[in-house]
Amino acid sequence: VGTRSALFTPLPDLGLIIVDEEHDSAFKQQDGFRYNARDLAIKRGQLEQAAVVLGSATPTLETLHAATTGRYGHARLTTRPDGTHPPTVETVDTRVHTPDEGLTAPLLDAMQQTLAAGHQCFLLLNRRGFARVLACDACGWVAECPDCDARLTIHAHNPRAVCHLCGHHGPRPERCPECGEPLAQRGLGTQRLEQALARHFPGIPLIRLDRDSIRHKGALEEALDRIRRLNAAIVVGTQMLAKGHDFPQVGLVGVIDVDQGLFSVDLRATENTLQLIVQAAGRAGRGSGGGRVLLQTGHPDHPLIRGLNAADYPAMVAPLLAEREAAGMPPHGHLALVRVEAGDAETTRRHAERIATHLRDTATEGLRVLGPAPAPRHRVNRRFREQILLQSTRRNPLHESLARARHAWQADDLPRGTRIAIDIDPVSLA
Ligand SMILES: [Zn+2]
Ligand SMILES: [Zn+2]
Repeated sequence: VGTRSALFTPLPDLGLIIVDEEHDSAFKQQDGFRYNARDLAIKRGQLEQAAVVLGSATPTLETLHAATTGRYGHARLTTRPDGTHPPTVETVDTRVHTPDEGLTAPLLDAMQQTLAAGHQCFLLLNRRGFARVLACDACGWVAECPDCDARLTIHAHNPRAVCHLCGHHGPRPERCPECGEPLAQRGLGTQRLEQALARHFPGIPLIRLDRDSIRHKGALEEALDRIRRLNAAIVVGTQMLAKGHDFPQVGLVGVIDVDQGLFSVDLRATENTLQLIVQAAGRAGRGSGGGRVLLQTGHPDHPLIRGLNAADYPAMVAPLLAEREAAGMPPHGHLALVRVEAGDAETTRRHAERIATHLRDTATEGLRVLGPAPAPRHRVNRRFREQILLQSTRRNPLHESLARARHAWQADDLPRGTRIAIDIDPVSLA
């Protein structure tokens, strides 16, 4: 039993590999030796003739596609393990019910009922911290990290502003450095939501689960243990909350801001959002029959939101698979990302362009070379990043032209500090 690197354990007579929660992006090692432990499990199973079981209530589109097209066997569990019913999923239209510090009136009502019945409320918000940004309402200035393309986040009980990308800690300005007006805190993080909830539900136990609240060793176990011992309580957390833990007392799951994930630039953001909702819904109603899931969204008519059915994930993600097919994206196409990183923007761009030229020169039929383009996070920790995306309907041409192009660019004289990384089957384009 182990995390992704356990896959490399030598075993004399391997018979079965189980990859549990196979959709978890943590199976992909994102730096150094890049690999996806799920894919390597399949390769190892093939080499050693061992069976491989990929388990998930919300499989990745790649795995789902392989299972429904017969490349993998498909075993479906049609009932919940404990025999309870799947929860009902409802939306709250935030255009009609304006949220106040993230909370709408229908969500507060539902929480009131759930707590009165002695059950727990789980609220999901994928943003840590107290408020997202410090902004000036007079001139539009926003506090940003001096070293990254990222805004600084404010945390309760921390007098400094923090960058979540590079860890930069800076003083927290009171007034706008541009025009001198007092700064306002904009956006909502788990800590601010926690404070708002304490005002709405005085006397109700409140637990927050995110990377800030479980810093020290054993903190997660303590928090989980406390949740299991309580009846009526409110738990606020990031995606950590939706991860496979069993909480029998949850009667209501509220997703504070669904739209955040539905309209992201990243390839898998929508898929991950749907997985998060279904996984969170899996926490509701495990004990006493049924449960409710409330999604706060300004787009209740979005086809993926309308089609939300926690009981039939394959049907639910069918439109997403069709979209990927139309765009030639995985599982209907193969991707590789070449990342170029250097200390200044000009050098990075120049080398990215040279590498893209090598790739175009060696590209075989059916291979598209897109870019270079600045990475979604162009500057991180004072380094600049450009990326080139390769897209192909077949895997072989992709690997062949990458190998040839790499040969060519390795002969180029790259200045010190330039780094080039090839990511095959990237899980994120960010
Ligand atoms: Zn200002
Ligand atoms: Zn930073």
